[in-house]
Amino acid sequence: MTEVIATNQTILVVGGGISGLTAALEAAETGKQVVLVEKRPFVGGRITQLYKYFPKLCFPTCGLEINQRRAKMNPNLTIISMAEVTEVQGEAGDYSATIKISPRYVNENCTGCGDCTRAVEAEFDNEFNYGLGGMSKRKGAYLPHKMAHPQRYVLDPRIIGTEDADKAKAACKVNAIDLEMQEETLTFKAGAIVWATGWRPYDANKIQPYGYDRFANVITNVEFERMADPQGPTGGKLLRPSDGKEAKHVAFIQCAGSRDHNHLLHCSRICCMATLKQTHFVQDAWGDDGKSTIYYIDIRAIDRFEDFYTRVKNNPNVSFIKSKVASITENSENGNPVLHGVDVESYNRDGNGGYDRYATEYDLVVLAVGMEPSVDKGTFPVDISINEEGFIEPAPENGGVFAAGCASDALDVNRAVQQATGAALRAIQVVNRVAGTEGQ
Ligand SMILES: Cc1cc2nc3c(=O)[nH]c(=O)nc-3n(C[C@H](O)[C@H](O)[C@H](O)COP(=O)(O)OP(=O)(O)OC[C@H]3O[C@@H](n4cnc5c(N)ncnc54)[C@H](O)[C@@H]3O)c2cc1C
Ligand code: SF4
Repeated sequence: MTEVIATNQTILVVGGGISGLTAALEAAETGKQVVLVEKRPFVGGRITQLYKYFPKLCFPTCGLEINQRRAKMNPNLTIISMAEVTEVQGEAGDYSATIKISPRYVNENCTGCGDCTRAVEAEFDNEFNYGLGGMSKRKGAYLPHKMAHPQRYVLDPRIIGTEDADKAKAACKVNAIDLEMQEETLTFKAGAIVWATGWRPYDANKIQPYGYDRFANVITNVEFERMADPQGPTGGKLLRPSDGKEAKHVAFIQCAGSRDHNHLLHCSRICCMATLKQTHFVQDAWGDDGKSTIYYIDIRAIDRFEDFYTRVKNNPNVSFIKSKVASITENSENGNPVLHGVDVESYNRDGNGGYDRYATEYDLVVLAVGMEPSVDKGTFPVDISINEEGFIEPAPENGGVFAAGCASDALDVNRAVQQATGAALRAIQVVNRVAGTEGQ
């Protein structure tokens, strides 16, 4: 049974991505009692699935490792993974939160040896690699990723009740597998809440003209990030999902499902920067043989990112075409995606007084899909102000609930972390007021 020691001076953090982790650690390191509730079996959120960060092209694993070490060392912080908040009642300084914890089927005895993985046979698409999971499988007993915190294996619920579950249990020498584990419900107190449930990629299946659901060589930017990662499904090689051939000529389609009344109204900003970064992956993989073409409406590279944009613009292996791609078809002979549209900067380029239409083939197409809030509007278990796009608005009626990171807007890591630190401070102020009142 999971136990939580909490009072109305405890800070509850919902979501353990970089924003939630930051808020939780900042508060815990000032001496506050913090409970962090994370839906997935590990903390770190979506940055764990990024290969490199713009603009420095450094690895997210560095910052992640530092934060994980801080988390391990801090006795004020309790992390509950595989858990979701289902209900929040009360007001600032006096909340009662109910959480549901899914069974992991592996207890804290786990040493991370991997014997259970070797013992089971069933394999499933690896969700860590998004849609490219089809290119990489994971076993029914697994560690979600190499740096996962906690370093504790998980049994997929689909093997429970099968021979595989028994094999995993028999293989574990330290008695870490508990097939009797059940879903738990827990209610505890909190004085303030930091809501940091982050974002999810917009569902590319909804952008019908781009054929993500029909053409194997049309993938999304989050999938491309996994493909470029040496820990990813292709070992870091840029290969076409259809036939495993090298993907040297890559087209990036900006605003795929963003700034569009039929899809997401907002601009995610990050997807322009992500594409500029990903042209480096193409260049790094193939040198001058690697060619990137970016189809864009306008490039949003604000503040300090302007220099990064300028550097990419000056790269002769990267081309920019100002155009909203109308549709994608497939050349059935070679599996190449074919982009169709109009180059809006081509007016009268050939002297005939018209715009150039294109039908251009590539090895691989990457849809720069936008970021939407991970919690659907209308399903928040707490009463807070949500804007039209589904992000949390700062509002007095939110009481002691403060948004951090991408739960409040589409943000890069730097901005998400700054904002999470601010949210931690607001939460600390609330619990300090409670402590002050109770001390009177
Ligand atoms: C293609 C792409 C590339 C990017 N590259 C970069 C880059 O190079 N540099 C950069 O600065 N930024 C980049 N970003 C942006 C970066 O991913 C975000 O800034 C970062 O993930 C924000 O972290 P977060 O903690 O706010 O959200 P998340 O990473 O989404 O974390 C939220 C956490 O909350 C958990 N959660 C969700 N719902 C619940 C719930 N109901 N209960 C409990 N837990 C829940 C999730 O499981 C997750 O762990 C990129 C984004 C994209 C789309
Ligand atoms: S559950 Fe047991 S067998 Fe599996 S990794 Fe942990 S210690 Fe090893």
